[in-house]
Amino acid sequence: MSQRRTPDAARPAAARTRKPSGSSKKVEREASEKPWTIEDAAETYGINHWGAGYYSISRRGEVSVDLTDRATGSPHSVSLPKLLEELDARGIRPPLLLRFPRILERRIEELYHGFAKAISDLEYGGMYRGVFPIKVNQQQQVAEEVAAYGRRFHYGFEVGSKPELIAALAYLKDSDALLVCNGYKDEEFIDLALYGQLLGLRVVMVLEMPHELGIIEERSAALGVEPVIGVRVKLSAEGAGKWAKSGGEKSPFGLNLAQLVETVERLRERGRLGWLQMLHCHQGSQIPDLTIIRRAIEETARIYAGLVKEGAPMGLLNLGGGLAVDYDGSRSTRSSSANYSIEEYCHSLVDAVKWVLDESGVAHPTLVTESGRAMVAHYSMLALEILDVNRFENRDELAVNEDDNETLVALAEVARNINADNLLESFGKANRHREELHENFLTGDISLRERAMCEQCYWRAMTDIATETQKLRYVPEELRDLSGLLADQYYGNFSIFQSLADSWAIDCAFPVMPLHRLTERPTRQGVIHDVTCDCDGMIKKYVSGSEVTEALPIHETKENQSYFLGIFLVGAYQETLSDLHNLFGDTHAVSVDVESGRVRFSREVEGDSVSDVLEYVEHEPKKLVEQFRELAETAISEGRITAVQRRKALEAYRNGMAGYTYFES
Ligand code: PLP
Repeated sequence: MSQRRTPDAARPAAARTRKPSGSSKKVEREASEKPWTIEDAAETYGINHWGAGYYSISRRGEVSVDLTDRATGSPHSVSLPKLLEELDARGIRPPLLLRFPRILERRIEELYHGFAKAISDLEYGGMYRGVFPIKVNQQQQVAEEVAAYGRRFHYGFEVGSKPELIAALAYLKDSDALLVCNGYKDEEFIDLALYGQLLGLRVVMVLEMPHELGIIEERSAALGVEPVIGVRVKLSAEGAGKWAKSGGEKSPFGLNLAQLVETVERLRERGRLGWLQMLHCHQGSQIPDLTIIRRAIEETARIYAGLVKEGAPMGLLNLGGGLAVDYDGSRSTRSSSANYSIEEYCHSLVDAVKWVLDESGVAHPTLVTESGRAMVAHYSMLALEILDVNRFENRDELAVNEDDNETLVALAEVARNINADNLLESFGKANRHREELHENFLTGDISLRERAMCEQCYWRAMTDIATETQKLRYVPEELRDLSGLLADQYYGNFSIFQSLADSWAIDCAFPVMPLHRLTERPTRQGVIHDVTCDCDGMIKKYVSGSEVTEALPIHETKENQSYFLGIFLVGAYQETLSDLHNLFGDTHAVSVDVESGRVRFSREVEGDSVSDVLEYVEHEPKKLVEQFRELAETAISEGRITAVQRRKALEAYRNGMAGYTYFES
């Protein structure tokens, strides 16, 4: 590991670990002199908020995960750096995804118990049945674990496509659990669902489009199976957060109320109203505000009551997903947060349904939810190693003399004289001089060396302005973006496109923090870049305290010492949304359990090799080797390499093909 630049003269450490604030120098000094504790680290990274009791910092200053012992049921704290050490000894190095099945199990329990408690406290007359939407994490292991851990609670699956249905049919062994079929359905989909029912599973086909009813009627007659159907409705209440458009009247999914009534009519006319047993709504994923959820649930409950009054047997009220994860730990209505707990969510849903149905004189149905994100987000985390650090700051003497280019001299003058009283003026002048020097370079009036010196003077000016800006109580608009300049670039061995798609695509904030050295004050601000050759290959949002910031408080790396970061709460959606940008493939994945007081790596999935990813994009490794061999043979015949060099080149090519796609040391 190397640092590309030597560290700059010390700045007050407290200033580096905060966003620009109005704190005086004295306060900064006092703060930096106070010994750093792991409580400070916990607050800085917000781990006690977003960690939800699963992740915390140990006395040794390492991030640990709490895995309940499978044999004894007692809590067992496991150090993540220790896990990395043990995996390293087995030859498995980051980037790697650590999965914790015990967390998945506990989430299913918490949700079930949340509903059970609300049902009992509120004397609700129905029961609760959860289903896991496979799309949120389609990995085989998750499906298997949900089916196994969920068995006690008759936990089922929600599917939205044929492949998901085919997987669910194989894993679900419980005839009391539900298999909810959403999504657009063709004949084949419907046949499979009907066979599932015939084989004893509790399958409900939810109409997303009115015309699906026709295919269901036809196929159920052909197979001689009476189907159980549901209807998905478009609500007038729109959700909140990034996926608000999944709900509301403009939602692309579900039936509007006119279509719903027509469907009821059609079923009644054909004597098939008895098929209709479920009402389904989904307001969208990650809804941070419980009042918004509740409003939509009340509307759904009214529609449910209406359907019962129409004469449909009903009995199942499916309230979809949306239970949010507090990624930034702020317990707020920000899109990366949730202003409620699982218990409050369950209480609010049960209360809203009971209130509406009691008023309408309708019996309480079985409540169904399709929570995905909240079940699996905490279940996995990505561990990665920092490979390199780049700093913009350079305190070398600015080697500009009086007889140099006039504009360059003026720019150096600005850079040497930044102070609290001339920040805006210096900012303006530095930009003007730099623009002029860029022009001069294009017209050939200054040399490459002069242009390089221009950059050095300019960035010196900008970093000094940014440092001074941190001390201001009010930061002028023009200077606000400069705080990012103070951040170092930390290069992590991972691909954001492969492992953190939502951070890249829709700017989601995931908790990121060092996995060790947390008894040490982080003295730098860093922005994490990945190893793809893409300027988008960086994490733009961080959780710091309960704020979302543009840089991460981070330690200086040490020569010959690995520095590991963790990206947390990546169990929902990230694995399958990933893409192969730059042909970085799946990382290694290891599942960690605790049994009889001992850590066990219950599963290991090797990450993609280079030949795997090449095959995904239709290269044929054998042919590639052959083509490379031809190139090498030509080089021999042209006298450029020896036969021994050819052998070594081919060996390197073949080894590269078999290797991990990420940086290997
Ligand atoms: N149900 C349906 C129909 C969905 O489309 C989704 C995802 O958007 C979910 C459930 C899962 O939602 P969440 O992950 O917010 O629980």
